[in-house]
Amino acid sequence: MFGILALQGGFGLHQKALERFGMQSQLIKKPEELGQIQGLIIPGGESTALLNLMKPLNWKEAIIAFAQQGKLILATCAGLIILSRPTPVARDYLGLIDIEVKRNAYGRQINSFVGLGTSLLGISPLKIVCIRAPEVTFVGQDVEVLVSLEDRPMLLRQNNIVAATFHPDLSPNHSFYRWLILNKI
Ligand code: GLN
Repeated sequence: MFGILALQGGFGLHQKALERFGMQSQLIKKPEELGQIQGLIIPGGESTALLNLMKPLNWKEAIIAFAQQGKLILATCAGLIILSRPTPVARDYLGLIDIEVKRNAYGRQINSFVGLGTSLLGISPLKIVCIRAPEVTFVGQDVEVLVSLEDRPMLLRQNNIVAATFHPDLSPNHSFYRWLILNKI
C-alpha cells in the first residue's frame, strides 16, 4: 500500500487520484507509520514550509532510511525539490536523487501551465500540469529522464526514487498510475 506524506500541500489530491484507479492509500503523519507502507508519495506544496514541518520529528532521517530499504518514493514538485542534492543555501535537502533544481523557474502562480510531455516508456504523451514548478538544472549520471518537455527533464528516476516537476495528481492519468504500480511501488 502507498502512503502519502500528509504534513503540507496536495496530499488529499494524490489520495483521490489513487482512489480513482482503485488504490487504497494511507495518509502518513508520523515517521513511525512509514513501517506500514510499501511506497511513499511526497506531494507538491511549498518546500520551505514542508522542510520546517519535517524538522521536529526527524523526518529527514526516517525518509532516507525508508529509501535505503529499497521502497519506492514518488516525489512531486515541492517533493522533488526536497529530495534533490543539498546546496550551500539548502542544506536540508535529502539528496536522495542526484539532481539540482531551480525553484519557481517559470515564475509565479500566474505563469503556471499545462504541457504535453514525451511519452512515458511507450505510453501516450503525458499531460503535465506545472504550478510554480522547479526546473531540473543538473541530472547526475545515475538518473534516468523518463519524460521531458521541450528538452527539460520532467519525470526522473534513480533506482527506487521517482521525481516529477509537475502534478500527476492534478491530471490523473491511468497510464501513469499503472506504470507506478507496475514499478512496484
Ligand atoms: N514553488 C514551490 C516550492 O518552491 C513548489 C510548488 C509546487 O509544489 N507546486 O516549494
